[in-house]
Amino acid sequence: EVEIPEDHPRYQSLLTRHRIEEGVEKGITSKQGLIAEGRGEAFDYLLGEETTPSADEAERVAAAHLLLADHPVLSVNGNVAALVPGELVELAEVVDADLEVNLFNRTEERLQKIAEHLREHGAEDVKGLKADARIPGLSHERAKVDADGIYDADVVLVPLEDGDRAEALAEMGKTEIVIDLNPLSRSPQTAAVPIIDNIIRAIPNITEHARDLQDEPRAELERIVAEFDAEETLEAAERQIREGVAEREREQERKRES
Ligand code: ATP
Ligand code: MG
Repeated sequence: EVEIPEDHPRYQSLLTRHRIEEGVEKGITSKQGLIAEGRGEAFDYLLGEETTPSADEAERVAAAHLLLADHPVLSVNGNVAALVPGELVELAEVVDADLEVNLFNRTEERLQKIAEHLREHGAEDVKGLKADARIPGLSHERAKVDADGIYDADVVLVPLEDGDRAEALAEMGKTEIVIDLNPLSRSPQTAAVPIIDNIIRAIPNITEHARDLQDEPRAELERIVAEFDAEETLEAAERQIREGVAEREREQERKRES
């Protein structure tokens, strides 16, 4: 067990990395998951490692969608299970959603381990093990889902999803909420609600918004959903990255001059 000092300036990033390492050791996270983590960290660094006002708004809209849904499903892969297992179980409870394990590199062993890991964190029913339905337009292994899970869902939350599958799910007519730190990635670009934020911050914040909104009338939730502009959210994240970099450059310039 590595001790990370809480006053370290990059505490959260080190903690995240450590959880992914542990996930790999436990057989929950794949080696490709380590690479995905590295890509995510780079974008989080550029975004300032905090939830931007625009991401916070998208998280509120996601909460409204999940509360309005007839059958919401939260999709779980190896990185997601390693980073936010308990937080996901809590969100599923608050919005009454199913949890379904869905892997890019699908192996029976890893599926079982992730389901077990979620149960250890309080999940009662974990879907994704039956794999008795297919997403149209994807190769066999990538297409597998549960008939009474993602296949049947009207709203799906897919954090860190691969672009092809995100597109195929959207084509099935599902309302897709994607969490991804890279605003240029295809997955958030195909989403009805792109959330450009670290999943570690995003999931608890969606839960908090859901608690806030759960007693609102449907008409109010529908208004929140209708007013959302996905394009504007992606642009805001890109702007944040460009302006953050420009600001740091100006700072270094000032240091050199003084
Ligand atoms: P592309 O979409 O650009 O074709 P890809 O989706 O195949 O690439 P991956 O590395 O498989 O690339 O995707 C992982 C994605 O998950 C990256 O976009 C990365 O920013 C994102 N990501 C990684 N860790 C996190 C995290 N903790 N929170 C949110 N997003 C994350
Ligand atoms: Mg992607």
